[in-house]
Amino acid sequence: MRKIVIAIATCLLSTATATTSAAVTDLPSSLSQGGLVIGHAAPGSRVTVGGKPVHIGADGIFVFGAGRDEQGPIEVVVGGVRHSLSVTPRDWPIERVEGVPPKTVNPPPDVAARIQREQAEVVAARDRDDAREDFAHGFIWPVTGRISGRFGNQRIYNGDPKAPHSGMDIAVPQGTPVKAPADGIITFAKPDLYLTGGTVLLDHGFGLSSNFLHLSRIDVKVGQHVHQGEVIGAAGMTGRATGPHVHWGFNWFGVRLDPLLLPGIQ
Ligand SMILES: [Zn+2]
Repeated sequence: MRKIVIAIATCLLSTATATTSAAVTDLPSSLSQGGLVIGHAAPGSRVTVGGKPVHIGADGIFVFGAGRDEQGPIEVVVGGVRHSLSVTPRDWPIERVEGVPPKTVNPPPDVAARIQREQAEVVAARDRDDAREDFAHGFIWPVTGRISGRFGNQRIYNGDPKAPHSGMDIAVPQGTPVKAPADGIITFAKPDLYLTGGTVLLDHGFGLSSNFLHLSRIDVKVGQHVHQGEVIGAAGMTGRATGPHVHWGFNWFGVRLDPLLLPGIQ
């Protein structure tokens, strides 16, 4: 039987296995905002999260996450058994970023259409529900370095409030090799997006995907399978960036999660 992996350190519902219901073999009682849950149920169970069915593997594995602003509780129904998971709120500090090229903070109108088109392409690339369980074996850091920007922080660029930070920034020298944090398939690879520069998306299965932004070099192509630890490109500062770093974002479909809470990373 596959080892059970829980992305967040919380107490397990040990009662779930002690009751007559064998549908759930593990599920935390709570999760943090931005947290991922990798659960395990009896194979063949039907699993819904917030009323929507989610993919369940032949071995019973399933995943879901809580977004930055999720208040909970999240209702998870496994094999007809209802579980209510509370969501632990987090503090979201304000992060001031100065010296950003003004044209990337408030892009001129003539590039707005380009940005919209590029974002739509990225959204389409991560809207897939592959049966691969590449996420199930844990994650490694794509680069090692100082965390220069945290997930969820409210960002103010050059004094102008913008959307919360969608991932984790790791400051590393220009050209530092960026490694795949887990196995996956490349679903997007373009060198010159307006805001995010060199951009790569890596699909880990079940709607989970990583994205890497501001790359100075891209070594992979769409459709390519990569293994954990394989170099996919190099760190840079293309797009909206003030210095060389790797922005690592992580998604459960459209829900942005905190890479720092992933199994193997925290
Ligand atoms: Zn970033």
